[in-house]
Amino acid sequence: MFSYRHAFHAGSHADVLKHTMLIAILRHLTQKETALTVVDTHAGAGLYRLDGDYAGTSGEAADGVVKLFAALAPAGSRQPAIGEIAPLLQDYLETVAGFNPSGQLKIYPGSPFIVQALLRKEARDKLKLFELHPTDSKALAANIAQLGAGRQVAVARQDGFEGLKAFLPPPSRRGLVLIDPSYEIKSDYAKVSACVQDSLLRFSTGTYAVWYPIIPRPEAHELPRRLKTLVTQAGRPWLHATLAIGQSEERNVPGEPDRGQGLTASGMFVINPPHTLKPALQVALPQLLQVLGRGRGKGHALESGG
Ligand code: SAM
Repeated sequence: MFSYRHAFHAGSHADVLKHTMLIAILRHLTQKETALTVVDTHAGAGLYRLDGDYAGTSGEAADGVVKLFAALAPAGSRQPAIGEIAPLLQDYLETVAGFNPSGQLKIYPGSPFIVQALLRKEARDKLKLFELHPTDSKALAANIAQLGAGRQVAVARQDGFEGLKAFLPPPSRRGLVLIDPSYEIKSDYAKVSACVQDSLLRFSTGTYAVWYPIIPRPEAHELPRRLKTLVTQAGRPWLHATLAIGQSEERNVPGEPDRGQGLTASGMFVINPPHTLKPALQVALPQLLQVLGRGRGKGHALESGG
């Protein structure tokens, strides 16, 4: 069950999509004065070294954050590959750059660190993190301890689907829930649907962001459809964005990571999205595709309802 380690995937195109949207949602939610509670049901280790052993094994950041930085935030006097960078991508690049003060991209912040960086102390925003993997939850607790964030951030080595229930609704009735499982066991898909259904009963006005992989598996195809049905039944608005970078056209080099394999597409399904998210993504998604798209099967999609 515990074979998935996010360090292999940190900074991948899937992380770029997920974290760009996460930042955009948080920017909007932190505009109101009232305290915000963020729950990250599947938090990971929190911080990742892009030059570490794990990241090097699959090199997924090379087709994600590293490629994006090279194209849009080039060192020296070279112009970015795109005239005017979409504000969402600019915000994502600056957030990641904030963890790399040397100017070299060495550290990739996972969702816990991205969220914590955007929360407000004075507003008493809170972050609740769940991570079940013994090694990752230890690493997460140690990484978070170094922040000295005190009671603003709580880490629990607990099942995030179950643990979430105790926090809904949050006392201030303003909340964001990131549901980002590894889907290494297929029951995760049904658990996500059940979790969303239960959460909407507890806290129907909360914002929920569900990440999922687009892979040839019936459960993966079914998940966004199932979420649309649940959310429509609850009478809440939704937004669904996908990014497919397509197949790699590079040939494999013996002894180097496989260029064509791995995840090529993913999606984020957001319930009660900020009204600003769709227009901002309409500008950002084509740019993401322009920079990260590789070949056959590449594309992006954006739909909303409710
Ligand atoms: N949200 C993180 C980010 O964006 O940086 C990445 C999370 S990763 C995709 C999924 C994590 O969920 C893994 O670290 C895995 O160990 C953990 N996990 C798996 N099942 C879990 C469960 N039931 N509850 C909490 N964490 C779980």
